[in-house]
Amino acid sequence: MKAIYIHIPFCSHICSYCDFYKMVAKDELKSKYIDYLIKELEMKKKYLNDIETIYIGGGTPSSLSLEKIEKLLQALNENINMEKITEFTFEANPTDVNTIMANTLFKYGVNRISLGVQSLNKNKLKTLNRYHTPLIVKQAIKILNSAGIKNINADLIYGISPETFRIVRRDLRRVIRYGVTHISTYSLIIEEKTLIGKWIKEKKFIPMEEDKEAKIYQKICRYLRNRKFVHYEVSNFCKKGYQSKHNLVYWNNMNYLAIGAGASFYIDNIRYTNVMNLALYFEGIDSEQLNYLETTKLTDDERMAEEMILGLRKLEGVNKKAFSDKFGVNIYQKYPFLSDLILKSLIIDDNVFIRVPREKLYLMNEVLVNFI
Ligand code: SF4
Repeated sequence: MKAIYIHIPFCSHICSYCDFYKMVAKDELKSKYIDYLIKELEMKKKYLNDIETIYIGGGTPSSLSLEKIEKLLQALNENINMEKITEFTFEANPTDVNTIMANTLFKYGVNRISLGVQSLNKNKLKTLNRYHTPLIVKQAIKILNSAGIKNINADLIYGISPETFRIVRRDLRRVIRYGVTHISTYSLIIEEKTLIGKWIKEKKFIPMEEDKEAKIYQKICRYLRNRKFVHYEVSNFCKKGYQSKHNLVYWNNMNYLAIGAGASFYIDNIRYTNVMNLALYFEGIDSEQLNYLETTKLTDDERMAEEMILGLRKLEGVNKKAFSDKFGVNIYQKYPFLSDLILKSLIIDDNVFIRVPREKLYLMNEVLVNFI
């Protein structure tokens, strides 16, 4: 087990597009949650020996008070051999970042921050129900860098009509100038139960057409590649050497651990998701029998499909020999339709890897649907 994810389901406000497991909560509930997270961590101690990457995400981990953040970091330092940790990410809202927080994170081994920037455009941020300014983002990065945390990811969203690539380009240009090492850029996914979903029903928001969104995506890829960002996963770009080690554990379909309400983990071909209800989560930990929303043992077919769906998201693709070594079957025998996809130029076989060519990345879903 090389990776652990820690879920903090609290936010100080709710964004209009968000469908994650999160809530706005009182301080006492947050304190209780941190205590139970630590109990869950201790319950899973036998899995912690070889951990190399830690990711604290949410929700908004930075919305916790400094005292609570420190309590959690201390527990992680006590239960995990920090000398083995190569990447320790903490998700933060730019408005929450201050010098004391940055110094505390660095002191406990955090070496990567994922900033929820989404955009620096005022109108776009208003639609997303997020309220920071370019200056706040710039200062947050400066503070983190001064504290010693140099590896900074910016999450960005595109596809919010009526935007054009010009607006996205301005965001990209600015975050690069501020010194980010990694950019994750996702198109707006419309979820029914969100505020944006409601606006669509009321005809107050018009989703962007797919082909316009695909054009913006292609321009983003070109823009970042021209600025020497390595495009290593369909939505992820980084400066050389800054690939996210933690996320690569997911994309390489490896085992990973997670703690927290609503968190999912994958051990020995079984996918577990902790219950998304705090009362039941606390109850499960008290009885030392965790309450799950889901425990699914994957069949061999499902494991192979996951390997393809996750692996093809990486620009390098899926290693054919590693696939046959892992599953005992030749990739073409298992998926004869790969030959058709090659004929259609949706897949390339370079003898070692099978992958989606750069110029067809915008058609990724068309490729992946074959494995479902
Ligand atoms: S997008 Fe992030 S910050 Fe916004 S509500 Fe969802 S989890 Fe919270």
